[in-house]
Amino acid sequence: MPSSSLRYVFVYVFETDAGPYIVDAGWNTDEAFDALSDGLRQAGTSVTDVQGVLVTHIHPDHYGLAGRVREASGAWVALHPADAALIPERYDDPTDLLTRVSAYLRRMGAPEDEVSTLTNASMPVRPYVDAVRPDVLFEDGDRPRVPGWDLTAIWTPGHSPGHLCFWEPQNRLMLSGDHVLPRITPNIPYHPQAGANPLGDFIESLDKVAAYDADEVLPAHEHRFVGLSERVEQLKAHHESRFAEVVAAIEGGVTTAWGIAERMRWSRSWDRIDGFMRRAAVGEAMAHLRALEVMGIVHEILGEPSSFELVRKE
Ligand SMILES: [Zn+2]
Ligand SMILES: [Zn+2]
Repeated sequence: MPSSSLRYVFVYVFETDAGPYIVDAGWNTDEAFDALSDGLRQAGTSVTDVQGVLVTHIHPDHYGLAGRVREASGAWVALHPADAALIPERYDDPTDLLTRVSAYLRRMGAPEDEVSTLTNASMPVRPYVDAVRPDVLFEDGDRPRVPGWDLTAIWTPGHSPGHLCFWEPQNRLMLSGDHVLPRITPNIPYHPQAGANPLGDFIESLDKVAAYDADEVLPAHEHRFVGLSERVEQLKAHHESRFAEVVAAIEGGVTTAWGIAERMRWSRSWDRIDGFMRRAAVGEAMAHLRALEVMGIVHEILGEPSSFELVRKE
């Protein structure tokens, strides 16, 4: 993915007598399709032989190319129903969704002159998605039919509402998608398609995968690693310190999600965070606020913008 800071996405291949089954596909560019075809050829097979595409989640870098692989091979494409349900609004006709994104940006306190830029900030990646419908839906605990392998789909909402990890017990492998990455923390944004408490969902989903005694974790970005439960603890600690930052900002008199996002620590200064990254950052601040509200620590006074206050403990 030359134009992305993530640089690449991993596609994992399960070898079977019937042909290869792949986990994730990449995004929809000729370059990515050629890279996937080359990789499969090096593995002694071919993109035309693919039998199934198990997609961890709906983001363009994972699902975008699935339709083209299906076209080339006749493979089935699988997603969790919660992500499949987002396709029409997100990729076919996003008009309504964009209206709701604008409203939510105002609720979070985005300055009026940034609302329209930020509303359209995800549009540049739309060409990287072939918005096909899945042939198969995996619910939590389902066993994808991959001959000779004993896989289990684990529903891990948070990074996206229908995110799936896959557990392979013979080699004790956890295919973690974007749910657990070795170095970066996945973006957990609050947005109109994210559900009521995406960060709360994410933290529960972390505990869910930590219960598996994995020898190795196969994430979709960065690199393979060992130490799933340690990494889960680090991610939970990261969000604890984020909660503390948010509470400190409110104590310091900041009342909007936007203002809180500006005060949070990011990997670069706020004025160098723009476009989609800025929207993701504010969505991330808002996700922490929502989780704190569910915990009874913060209260949102709805408005444009909403203002947040700490719940007084008696
Ligand atoms: Zn993702
Ligand atoms: Zn990704």
